[in-house]
Amino acid sequence: MTCSLGVPLIVIGSMNLTRTLARGDFSCPHCGRLQAYRLRARRPFLTVYLIPMIPLGDRERFVQCQQCRNRFDPAVLERDSPSTSRLTASNSSAAEAFEQQWLRAALLVVIEHGQMTEPEIAALQRIGTQLAHRPVEREELGQLCSSAYQNRISAKHYVQSVAHLWSDEQKQTVMQACFLAASIDGDLQPPQMELLQTLKQEMQLTDEEFQQAIEAAVELE
Ligand SMILES: [Zn+2]
Repeated sequence: MTCSLGVPLIVIGSMNLTRTLARGDFSCPHCGRLQAYRLRARRPFLTVYLIPMIPLGDRERFVQCQQCRNRFDPAVLERDSPSTSRLTASNSSAAEAFEQQWLRAALLVVIEHGQMTEPEIAALQRIGTQLAHRPVEREELGQLCSSAYQNRISAKHYVQSVAHLWSDEQKQTVMQACFLAASIDGDLQPPQMELLQTLKQEMQLTDEEFQQAIEAAVELE
């Protein structure tokens, strides 16, 4: 194939390659019963003449229920044995992991109803900085964002996957972050309110705990 100047035209594109890393049974939060799952990894590649050549991002891992086809974070596989994961909750890498988790949850709330806009990125950076007591870089958000688009796990399914790792106090932080993220564009709209209610249920927060989180979040602003 050549262009009008006689220079070969290289056909470049991109594709996602998904492969299965493991299979097994898990307790699917959506189906509410034991189901078969596949642990899969998805990675975008630059293609040249439709042949994947160069990886464009990290491998994004997700668990997919073979029945309902919903996707979950791999942390969902440890839901049934929370004792092992809770043990590490006091060290600093666990604290870092938690920061990534609530930031991801907040980001998923923002992109639940569409693409992320420039003002939303700035607002999310501000929320992250307030709650983490450290500057949240744009690059960090960008990475989380592309990872979220890659593995396409919804906010609800993400929280279902990881909530078992969180203490009651941490759940409050997650709720604050999600509330602030949901109200980035001003007033809360019914779909966002509904989503917050769903997350409240998934984290098993009482009405009182939910209210406390919202109050604390409003005070932050
Ligand atoms: Zn399922």
